[in-house]
Amino acid sequence: MLHMHEVRGSSPLAPTIKPRGSAKKMAETIDYKEQIQKLIRLQETDSEIYELQSEKDSFPEKIAVLDGMLEKKKNGMNEAEEKLKQLQVKNNDKDNELKSCEDKILKHEGELAQIKTNKEYKAMLEQIESVKADISLLEEGIIGIMDEIEAAKARCEEEKKLFEEEKKKNNSEKESIRNEEKQVDARLNELKGIRGELKSGIAEDLLTRYEKIRENRGKYAIARIEGDCCGVCNMTLRPQVINEARLQKGLVICETCSRILYSDV
Ligand SMILES: [Zn+2]
Repeated sequence: MLHMHEVRGSSPLAPTIKPRGSAKKMAETIDYKEQIQKLIRLQETDSEIYELQSEKDSFPEKIAVLDGMLEKKKNGMNEAEEKLKQLQVKNNDKDNELKSCEDKILKHEGELAQIKTNKEYKAMLEQIESVKADISLLEEGIIGIMDEIEAAKARCEEEKKLFEEEKKKNNSEKESIRNEEKQVDARLNELKGIRGELKSGIAEDLLTRYEKIRENRGKYAIARIEGDCCGVCNMTLRPQVINEARLQKGLVICETCSRILYSDV
C-alpha cells in the first residue's frame, strides 16, 4: 500500500510515461533462452497435434477401405446366390422339358394302338425312340446341373461364411478405430490446453513469427543448429549466426529458410 501511494504520488505524468517505459523494459528483459525453450515445447506440441490430426484424418479412409472389403464379400455372396438361382431355374426348365417328353411318349404310345399300317407303326416307333433319346440326353444334362447345383450351394455357403467373417472383422476394426479416435480426441484436447498455456508465455511478436513460418514452411518453425548447419534446411550457417544463437540474447534466424535457430551447445 505504501509503495502504491508513493507511485501514485510521485508524478502526475507517471501514467503516460509508464506504459512506454514498461514496454521498453519488457523488450529488454525478454529472456530468449526461456522463450526458445517454450517455442521448442510449442513446436513439439504442434508436431504431436499435427501427427494426431493426420491420424484422425486417416480414419474415414480406413473405414471406407473396410467397408469396401465388406462390400466385395457381399457381392461375392450375392453372385454365388444368383448363380445358384440361375442353375435352379435351368434345372426346372430341364425338368419341364423332360416331363413334356414323357407326355409325348405316352401320347405316341396311345397313338400306336390306332395305327393301321406297318409303315406308320414303324415311323411312330422311330419317333418314340427319338424322344427317348432326347430324354436320355435331358437326364444326363439334369445330372450335370444337379452336380453344378451342389457345387453352387457349397460355394454359397463358403461365400456366406467369408461375408460373415468379414462382417465380424469390419465391426471389430471399426470399433477399434472408434476407440482410437476417442483417444486421439482426448489427447488433442489435452494438447490444445497445453498449447494455450505455452502460447500465453511467449512474447506476441515471437509467437506471430512462429505461426507465420509454420504457415509458410510447414511443420518446423524453429530449427536446432546441427554442427554448423540449420537442422531443418541443412544449409551451412555463418559462424557469427551460430555464435549469436549460442548467446541467446536475441532472435536468430536461418538466412536460408528463415526459421528461428537455437543451439543446444
Ligand atoms: Zn534453415
